[in-house]
Amino acid sequence: MSGFDTIVMVDWSGGNDTGKSPRQDAIWACVARLGRAEDPVYLRNRTEAETWLAVLFEAERRAGRRVLAGFDFPFGYPTGFARALTGSDDPFAVWDWLETRVEDSPQANNRFDLAASINLQFGGQGPFWFNGLKRDIAGLPRRKDLYENPFPEKRVAETAAKGSFSCWQLGGTGAVGSQVLMGLPVLSRLRKRFDAAIWPFEPLDREIAFVEIWPSLTLGAGPEGEIKDAWQVREVARMVSNLDVETLHRILKVDAPEEGWIFGLGHEAQLKHAALQPPKLTNDCFALPPGVHWTPVRETLDMLEARLAPVTPVEVVPVSDATGRVLAEDVVARRSNPPLPNTAVDGYGFAGGKPAGVHQMPLAAGRAAAGDVPGAVPDGHAVRILTGASLPVGVDTVVLQEDVTVSDTTIAFRGPINAGANTRRAGEDVVEGAIALKKGTRIGPAEAAVLAAIGTVAVSVYGILRVAVLSTGAELVEAGDVAAPGQIFDANRPMLLELIRALGHAPVDMGRVTDDRDLLAGSLSKAAAQADLILTSGGASAGDEDHVSALLKEAGAMTLWRIAVKPGRPLALGMWAQTPVFGLPGNPVAAMTCALVFAAPAMARLAGQSWREPQGFDVPAAFSKRKKAGRTEYLRARIRNGQAEVFASEGSGRISGLSWADGFVELPEAAAEIEVGTLVRYIPFGSFGL
Ligand code: AMP
Ligand code: MG
Repeated sequence: MSGFDTIVMVDWSGGNDTGKSPRQDAIWACVARLGRAEDPVYLRNRTEAETWLAVLFEAERRAGRRVLAGFDFPFGYPTGFARALTGSDDPFAVWDWLETRVEDSPQANNRFDLAASINLQFGGQGPFWFNGLKRDIAGLPRRKDLYENPFPEKRVAETAAKGSFSCWQLGGTGAVGSQVLMGLPVLSRLRKRFDAAIWPFEPLDREIAFVEIWPSLTLGAGPEGEIKDAWQVREVARMVSNLDVETLHRILKVDAPEEGWIFGLGHEAQLKHAALQPPKLTNDCFALPPGVHWTPVRETLDMLEARLAPVTPVEVVPVSDATGRVLAEDVVARRSNPPLPNTAVDGYGFAGGKPAGVHQMPLAAGRAAAGDVPGAVPDGHAVRILTGASLPVGVDTVVLQEDVTVSDTTIAFRGPINAGANTRRAGEDVVEGAIALKKGTRIGPAEAAVLAAIGTVAVSVYGILRVAVLSTGAELVEAGDVAAPGQIFDANRPMLLELIRALGHAPVDMGRVTDDRDLLAGSLSKAAAQADLILTSGGASAGDEDHVSALLKEAGAMTLWRIAVKPGRPLALGMWAQTPVFGLPGNPVAAMTCALVFAAPAMARLAGQSWREPQGFDVPAAFSKRKKAGRTEYLRARIRNGQAEVFASEGSGRISGLSWADGFVELPEAAAEIEVGTLVRYIPFGSFGL
């Protein structure tokens, strides 16, 4: 069995829909694909839900997408009930039995009478109980203490799922009994109409499959202000859509032929883990609007920003292991910094400000030093206090020791001094409960300090992005090997591997591959299995030996992004086995330029960072140049004596110029006449993250 393309999760409802306004506890459904959930859909009643589901199934079937649909009520009753009711252990016998007898419309349904008629077959005191109507119904106890159940009270699944409700209880907060009675006939019709496979009674080898879910298995009520049912179906849909096929199979392996089972019961940790996974990239994520010829750099970056999202799994790590990683959640301060008001200087502390003039104050015994538990200072007294000490009770102002004359028992100093002088307020840096660091922040030395200062123990971070590097070209040999005439050493691979490492990702060396389509396809597949992103160099444009672009085009998932940039011929962007591929140009200067300008921000985003672009600054040019309109140019540059120098040659094979330079001069698309002294934008390599 393969995986499912479309997940739809439904929170069912068993009641009538007779009010004027929509009810909060009606039916909510949510669709998710590739780990991305759509907005939950509100379905007013079961009739509406049945139509909506049928339309969805039809559309998905036509699009060739497999659907896994989840419903939050049991698909079977406790052991013995099916046989007693229908003469067969087959749960579908119960589905059919109910389908032919349940009468349901938004205005009215016969669930209580039907339950009573079942009860009467078994003595009239159970298995069903609870009557939501005013009139008494013979055979249907209103309360549990009047009730006797000839069948097991719970299924094995409910016994294992703490907090779940018995299917016999037809009403009251949390009850599911009515949902089963009113839901199974709908599922029974949909099952027949779409030939759906029902779990765990049947193998899920068909286009559409139904599973029983219980959102509260892994979820709480959700954030305040959101409707619980809407939030839960969205989260479950997203979670299930994120499951990898192997885990899904493990979860589906269940033996409960009569009673059914709750999807994920016994696999809660895997489900919660899946909930943390970022969505997958879609195959068309690099598609360009038709008719686009030369895409400006700005637009290219905007498109990358819009289309890319974090792809690495989230994990929780101790703060000590977190440097270099990217936060997957906002970090909330567990403790204020500073936790208590304290002194910023060595001096003498007392209460309140003092006006101009000379002041004398008696000195309290002892002193307050950093680390001391704050004591108290008597009214009108000053106390010796040292930098970092929490202010004792009765102290809110500190005078610098350099400004004080001290005797054994008194101090003297000159005002004015403002109340609060030379002290730090509690929480003036970060207040407990406030967001101290944002999701998407990479943890460098400064962030490590913040995390420690606010008492963080562990953080949720994205996994390190694995980036595969593959050089292509029949002319390439490994540096240090013997090069025949016509051959050159592979310079791009060492460059890109180091660039990836320097940017904080994990380089994966995939070696070189000659200009052969099959070999290249093999290498790309190997790379896709080992990495989250593939950088290739060479073979990216549209010539005879440009196999990277040809292959990606064949795979149907490639767009040649002709970017209006120099250096850098077309950049091939595509997907190979669900892994994004950046096909960089072969010329080393163009390869490094494109890697820094386009791949670096893309990698940062895939690794979970917020979108970031390098910051340049304007400096006078030390050169002159006439530039044509139509593309952005990057010149290898460095700053000397406050001016931007550029490398003597613009040839994009001149690797030595890359090392000569400390950054780029970026010349915008418009035509320009640059003289010595004209302000030009300089972007240091460091600003790209190197
Ligand atoms: P291509 O993009 O494959 O047409 O290559 C453009 C130019 O870059 C050619 O001169 C190639 O020899 C050169 N080139 C391609 N790959 C590399 C590499 N890995 N190291 C150095 N030069 C390369
Ligand atoms: Mg080539």
